[in-house]
Amino acid sequence: MSSSTLRFDVLIAGGGLVGSSLACALASTGLDIALVERVPVQAQQAPHYDERSSALSLASAVSLARLGVWPALAEAARPIRHIHVSERGKLGVVRLHAADHELAAFGYTLPNRVLGRALQARVQSLDNVHLFNPAEVQAPLRRADGVTLRLSAADGEHTVMARLLVVADGAESPLRAALGIPVRRYDYEQTALVFNATPRQDTAGWAHERFTGCGALAVLPLERRVAVVWTVPNTAVPALLAQPPAALAAAASAAFGQRLGGFTQIGRLARWPLQGLHAERLVDERVVLTGNAAHAVHPIAAQGFNLSLFEAMRLAEVMRQQPGDPGAAALVRRYAALTAPRRAAVTRFTHWLPRLFERAPGTLGHLRSLGMLGLDLAPAAKRAFARPAIGLPEHLPA
Ligand SMILES: Cc1cc2nc3c(=O)[nH]c(=O)nc-3n(C[C@H](O)[C@H](O)[C@H](O)COP(=O)(O)OP(=O)(O)OC[C@H]3O[C@@H](n4cnc5c(N)ncnc54)[C@H](O)[C@@H]3O)c2cc1C
Repeated sequence: MSSSTLRFDVLIAGGGLVGSSLACALASTGLDIALVERVPVQAQQAPHYDERSSALSLASAVSLARLGVWPALAEAARPIRHIHVSERGKLGVVRLHAADHELAAFGYTLPNRVLGRALQARVQSLDNVHLFNPAEVQAPLRRADGVTLRLSAADGEHTVMARLLVVADGAESPLRAALGIPVRRYDYEQTALVFNATPRQDTAGWAHERFTGCGALAVLPLERRVAVVWTVPNTAVPALLAQPPAALAAAASAAFGQRLGGFTQIGRLARWPLQGLHAERLVDERVVLTGNAAHAVHPIAAQGFNLSLFEAMRLAEVMRQQPGDPGAAALVRRYAALTAPRRAAVTRFTHWLPRLFERAPGTLGHLRSLGMLGLDLAPAAKRAFARPAIGLPEHLPA
């Protein structure tokens, strides 16, 4: 164990998509930032190099541009110019057009690998961000002036002290547990099957959300392909995965309906059991929780990363406005107050949306179809429906 203590203003534990974005955001404060990631960032098994693609809201794209990351993403990003929401076996559909909101796009689809690599490259270019990788932090000990942790890295063990600890070490967060912060979990009893697919027709910038009665298919535009997130009940997974790829492509096409002419081919498949998770305290003395460590939401509305990026931009903004001690109680409280309404709205929306479409039989199902027809015709209602996709203007940090 090294005898000297390494000191930082902020230590971010976990360098996934969220921890890395936060490091980029906090760099603008001029503070000394440590980012600690356990898995070697170049390795294929690093969590942010997974098979998924993310739908980024327009607000997130603007934020990533402000962080200097967008130039590395622009080529791979595919604009979402239209959104189509439909329900299997029902008449009502909702069509949203970015042009109706005087926008070129609601947001963009990006493979997580591309996003992860661009964030890592940006982190490594920042003078005041020190990346420890591969390295792991453990045993947090809070004191009045900061948090002390043990850091195990390739060159041995160190003691690090930070005036603020940001916990971004994922849903199972060992640090959250070590800090004694309880969580509430909700098992959706669903699995997200994630794969890329080749559609017969070009997407022409359309993103689709298709409710199937027992789940949903989100189909997002990519270069010559689409990114599919197919949510199915856990009980259906073994039979679906036992099929050869061609049969699975046919099953996905049947669930999706005739849009895009169906899928001719599907790529490597990954599965994500879906669990909602909410930490009971998102800030604590000299501690902030973010990303999946704070809130893992249902992916139905593609909001998880978007929410965490919003939080990252807000934390940086509060630190710029209140220079001095980044772990000061007043600063942490102000950050919590500024982010709480958005967090609550995303949590509610993502929790109830799938249930509304899955559990409503008979009359309620028909009313919902009528509601969707009405929504498709009413411009004001459509604008309200589009807001989560765009990320509200007031959520764009100054
Ligand atoms: C199927 C699916 C589709 C989704 N689609 C979208 C979408 O379209 N749009 C959107 O906005 N969101 C989406 N999300 C949500 C989004 O993927 C998550 O919000 C995001 O990945 C969370 O990242 P994270 O960095 O918090 O967690 P993680 O990716 O779990 O990263 C945590 C990191 O911490 C590291 N770590 C753990 N312990 C330690 C330690 N002790 N020391 C150091 N490092 C440690 C881990 O190695 C890991 O790299 C989707 C989610 C799912 C499941």
